[in-house]
Amino acid sequence: MEDPTLGQIDTRLIQTAVIGGRDSDQPVILPEQPHNLDEFIRQFGRDDFWCGTLLGGCGEPLRPKRYVTRVCHFAHEADPGRGECHRTTNSADGADHLFVKAHVTRWLAGQGHAAQGELRSFGHCHGDAVDFRLRHAKTHLRFELHPEDYRSWRRAADSLGAREGRIEWVFGRDDALARDMAARRGYALLVRCETEGNDRRVFIGTLTDGKKTPWAPLEDCRMTESGLVTPALEELRAEGAVRDDGIGCEPFPGSVALPRGQVVFAVDTEAAPLASSPLDVPGRRLIPGFVKPAGSRIVRACLSLPDTVPAPTDQYVYQLAGSVRLLVTDVVEGNGSSWAVRADALVRLNGLEAERTGLWRPSVALDEKYVPAARASSTCERAPLTEPAASGPKTPETAPGKAADELRKVLEGVAAKGATITWGELTERLGRWVHDLPNPKRQELLVEVDRPRVPDHPLLSVLVVTHLGRPLPYLGQVLSRLGAAEPASEFALQQWAAAETKKTHGAYGHRRTRASAAPPSAAKRPATGERAPIGSDLKQAHRRRAEMREKLEEAARTRARTKGARAQRLSQAIRQGEEHLRRYEEVRSRGRALRDWLGEGDRLLGLLIGLIGRPITVTPARAERRAVAPEPKPAKAPEPKPVEKKDPNLRKVRRLLGELDRTHGHRPTQDLLRLLDEIGKHRDQLARPLPAAETKHVERWRSRLEDRRSAERSAQAAAASRNASAGTGRTAGPPRDDRLPTEGIDKLAPTVRDILKELARADGTPLSWGDLRLRAGGQLPFLHPDDQVALLVAADRGTPGNEPLLSTLVDHSVAAPHRLYHLVRLGCGREPVPDAELETHRAMEALRLRQIWRYRR
Ligand SMILES: [Zn+2]
Repeated sequence: MEDPTLGQIDTRLIQTAVIGGRDSDQPVILPEQPHNLDEFIRQFGRDDFWCGTLLGGCGEPLRPKRYVTRVCHFAHEADPGRGECHRTTNSADGADHLFVKAHVTRWLAGQGHAAQGELRSFGHCHGDAVDFRLRHAKTHLRFELHPEDYRSWRRAADSLGAREGRIEWVFGRDDALARDMAARRGYALLVRCETEGNDRRVFIGTLTDGKKTPWAPLEDCRMTESGLVTPALEELRAEGAVRDDGIGCEPFPGSVALPRGQVVFAVDTEAAPLASSPLDVPGRRLIPGFVKPAGSRIVRACLSLPDTVPAPTDQYVYQLAGSVRLLVTDVVEGNGSSWAVRADALVRLNGLEAERTGLWRPSVALDEKYVPAARASSTCERAPLTEPAASGPKTPETAPGKAADELRKVLEGVAAKGATITWGELTERLGRWVHDLPNPKRQELLVEVDRPRVPDHPLLSVLVVTHLGRPLPYLGQVLSRLGAAEPASEFALQQWAAAETKKTHGAYGHRRTRASAAPPSAAKRPATGERAPIGSDLKQAHRRRAEMREKLEEAARTRARTKGARAQRLSQAIRQGEEHLRRYEEVRSRGRALRDWLGEGDRLLGLLIGLIGRPITVTPARAERRAVAPEPKPAKAPEPKPVEKKDPNLRKVRRLLGELDRTHGHRPTQDLLRLLDEIGKHRDQLARPLPAAETKHVERWRSRLEDRRSAERSAQAAAASRNASAGTGRTAGPPRDDRLPTEGIDKLAPTVRDILKELARADGTPLSWGDLRLRAGGQLPFLHPDDQVALLVAADRGTPGNEPLLSTLVDHSVAAPHRLYHLVRLGCGREPVPDAELETHRAMEALRLRQIWRYRR
């Protein structure tokens, strides 16, 4: 057991020794576990272990010590006359120079190189480096395990290189020397050892800039005429990404990261072609141009771009994307050092942004330039250009970090309440400085609040919304600066924001989300993710069936009055619709199939509504020669003919009018409206126009019932908004029969058109149905979905066929974001757009709208 007089030495836990004598270069490692130790002793005996001089030891014998409760180790023998041991390296890696020497010698021999390793000391230990001279290959292979300082190394490199021709360096660590080598050759070699039994196995790493270093066992590497080659290096060579002339080369340029999204670039087409430049590296090309870093003047410089990026043209100004770095060369004799900017990708700026950089002025046709900015890739940043002014005024008295902390605290509270907040409200909570912050600063603050971004972690910045409850116009930029994927379009962004808001509310403990970022109409059809999918789907399916039945009847009636191709298409759509209804029985019990059924139903309804033209409540006014509310209805006007006295339809109209007169006092408005509808149907089938007396009679009833209903509806709306603010969710969709007559729609249409025109002139940001109602200042009642379509169709009646519909700007429910738009397009007689392309199409149309309306009054 332990000799108490040697306790001091034993605490060093010596793990390595040499075998075969005090000056031996054969290292061993003592296993730490007792059962491994027993095997070790069977192999090596007990008596041939030395505190080797090449390990920096005293040369005295060492004894393996077996322990069960602590790791096994070597210990010096108890010999009072023995001199003091100054060995400092006791751990497993303390003998790595000897392991490298032994293994590399064997490895070289295996490839026909008879070379003995020589140990070198730079003053740290006996084995600061291990050298191998390969005479045939005229190569000096050096494993530099403990680094010299940079200047000594450069001197050594120059003198060794001069003396021995080629010199191959393998470094013990990823340090300044290895990096310098990587800058010259495109890679550097590293070495490390790993314990395997009582051995240390040698691995060679291939270090390159910006990539993880791959490691390969020494046995997998080759010594060639052009140096030590690892498997990874072979790949790099195949790619042409490295230089073989090594240390003799001037290093590749160094690089310093630049702030993201703040450098813009325009090509200089008149610059002379470049002579060779140290900034020109394999796989990239240099493009002369004008570079403007944020807050700096425009400088003429080169941009280094990967060969794979399409060449920029002088038609655009670009924002640099990906990893943007400043490239700098070493000082070259007589020339000083040069520099360029390096980027991975380019993002085209749109006309407005480009103009702001000062690098571009619109020529004649602004609109042609005004194409959507290309998005390089989802991972590319698309941060805004910060105006020089933005960095000017300081945030008052509050340090940025502190401001973000305060804001974060407030937003967490807002999240816990399941609410959202505007900058205005934040000013009340946090102080005047919030109000004074320019938008770029607000953006920065929001980025700060959610930084560092942890994927799937709820975002607080989405809770700050406009006073209409919509996502901030620069939310996309905040997202991209956080490194979160930026949704590809305005619409996608809104949907994303609504979902993210819910997620954040949920994460902060609020169960019932009010989701103010979602358009209110979304509440009518519950988001499928929120509730049990089957239940809500079934409810929706019931509604959809009723809707489908009604539309089919309407379509059949329309078909009866229609001829030619339209009648054929109607017949076809009716068959499809009936088939769809029949399929309900087989899908009702299967969740997934039911979903598909619902989707298909949407499509068919759209088709039917498009073919029918207008809701059935609409009476074709063209049929009335002396109509009280003259209004052209092109869709389904039969040719007017004089009414025959005995027309059965006319008899029915008269009978129904009589019924209205008699029973209105005690019947609900809806019933009476149904009578009026029925009158309309018979009137549609009249062979000749309705006589003047009856027409007046009908119109009197129409206006009377409309008054009566709008009174009821405002009561309903009030109740609905009470429900909504009580947090129970908006249940109040309009009842099925609650339909607006044509006259009502036409009265509202100009208001809606004005609102949409104004929106198109401003910024073209889409508007939800709820916002539309708000903007219409309460003129707009809750509307049946078909009436929404009819109203938008009416609002777009004045839009020329070659211009985008203003209705493009009306957003719809989160569940079916483009359905309304799709139907309105059909209603306006526009070509249908395939579902898959609808979103992109709509985004493009929104952009066109903005172009068209920007300068139009
Ligand atoms: Zn010793």
